[in-house]
Amino acid sequence: MADKLDLIPISEWGFFTLPRPMVIAGPCSAESEAQVMKTAEGLASFGIHVFRAGIWKPRTHPGGFEGIGTPGLKWLQRVKEEFGMFTCTEVASKDHIQACLDHGLDILWIGARTSANPFMMQEIADKLGSTDIPVLVKNPVSPDLELWIGALERLNRAGVKKLGVIHRGFTTLQTGGYRNDPGWRVAIELRTRFPELPFFADPSHMGGDRKYLLELSQRAMDLGLEGLMIESHCNPDCALSDAKQQLTPEALRVMLGEHIVVRDADSESADYRENIDQLRARIDVIDENLLSILHARMAVSEKIGAYKRDHNIAILQMGRWDALLDNMVRKGQRENLDENFIRSLFSVIHEESVRVQNEILWEKEI
Ligand code: PEP
Ligand code: MN
Repeated sequence: MADKLDLIPISEWGFFTLPRPMVIAGPCSAESEAQVMKTAEGLASFGIHVFRAGIWKPRTHPGGFEGIGTPGLKWLQRVKEEFGMFTCTEVASKDHIQACLDHGLDILWIGARTSANPFMMQEIADKLGSTDIPVLVKNPVSPDLELWIGALERLNRAGVKKLGVIHRGFTTLQTGGYRNDPGWRVAIELRTRFPELPFFADPSHMGGDRKYLLELSQRAMDLGLEGLMIESHCNPDCALSDAKQQLTPEALRVMLGEHIVVRDADSESADYRENIDQLRARIDVIDENLLSILHARMAVSEKIGAYKRDHNIAILQMGRWDALLDNMVRKGQRENLDENFIRSLFSVIHEESVRVQNEILWEKEI
């Protein structure tokens, strides 16, 4: 397992410059030449210079719009020629890569369904190793950090040094209303392990609805990520894929220009990744995780309450409580957590758990 990747800094790729965020925008799918050109024109008008569009679309169900395929690459060439934008698309096979190289694409990304598959990743890595094209790797659909890192290692070992990541959220049972669980703690861990890896967030696929774009983009900036990949379409409601999550170039201009607050935007200093705002944003993520863990714990307490009620068992079982506390103190010590802190923390949790169980008992007696 690599703890270091051999990387060429993003500032040397020739497309992106600070200040943050570095933005990649464009439609989920290239649908027609007119749609591609109109969207690109709108985006170029306010300085977006990296254009995305899916040419081959990995759809969950067959029969939907599976992408326009190779003919669409010509439209991306036009975007490059007429608006001076750099272009990027998703690839999932050797043939896709070859077609993109033949049409002068500037950046490729690997989708979430592909990065989850080591066989496909190896095939792609073998093909990309001999090229100089930058590659951004989306996280695999499941929250498996090692699988994501494995995909990066395959590319890097094959010789891809212009490498970055796109965090697009995970398929989990609890997504908090979003299409995908943002799982920021996984992003933070990857960031901590590979601080030099250029890091984009994809709030479009994370949220699944344009109403979430601002809050998710803001969170990405607060965590100090370098860039955003956002889906934008000249007529979002009529889009052939991911209609709800796309926004017009004009709405994107307003969001980026007027709403997102980016601290340290002009800082080139090496320590900007670790400033106080970013550390606070990490604490916020951890606290939100603590809340959902507490929620899950109380849900179990309710079930225990119902069981005790139905079997006429007393709520307070002192032997069980003492054993639990001893166990937590011991485990806490292994994690370097102070004994008094653990005792007070679990006393409060236990008190709340007893209250919840009592409520269940009371319900029956009404
Ligand atoms: C996309 O970017 O349009 C896409 C299909 O994304 P993902 O691989 O994140 O689902
Ligand atoms: Mn999409």
